[in-house]
Amino acid sequence: MEHSENCIFCKIISGDIASEFLFQDEALVAFKDIKPIAPVHVLIVPKKHVRSINDLTAGDEALISRMIMAAKDLAKQTGVNKSGYRLFFNVEKGGGQEIFHLHLHLIGGWV
Ligand SMILES: [Zn+2]
Repeated sequence: MEHSENCIFCKIISGDIASEFLFQDEALVAFKDIKPIAPVHVLIVPKKHVRSINDLTAGDEALISRMIMAAKDLAKQTGVNKSGYRLFFNVEKGGGQEIFHLHLHLIGGWV
């Protein structure tokens, strides 16, 4: 698995920083955002270090599909699947990205 030295998400994935995973499989982990902007705010993160959407290659198609399918399952797990939720990627600084390791945001829980 590719890791980046000073990446906080790589450290969470490797266990160097303790975190509670809501979901984990061989390709992905999911955990709560430490600065939530909604009652439910989950991050779906590939174990492989990819900087942003800009850095995806053709070989990452399955990974992205998998992230979205995991988000669907996590929406159900966190109880927002029926009320509704939003999925989004922030890309680079201008897009609001703060941690430069690809992640999909799942937010919801207002209603
Ligand atoms: Zn990383």
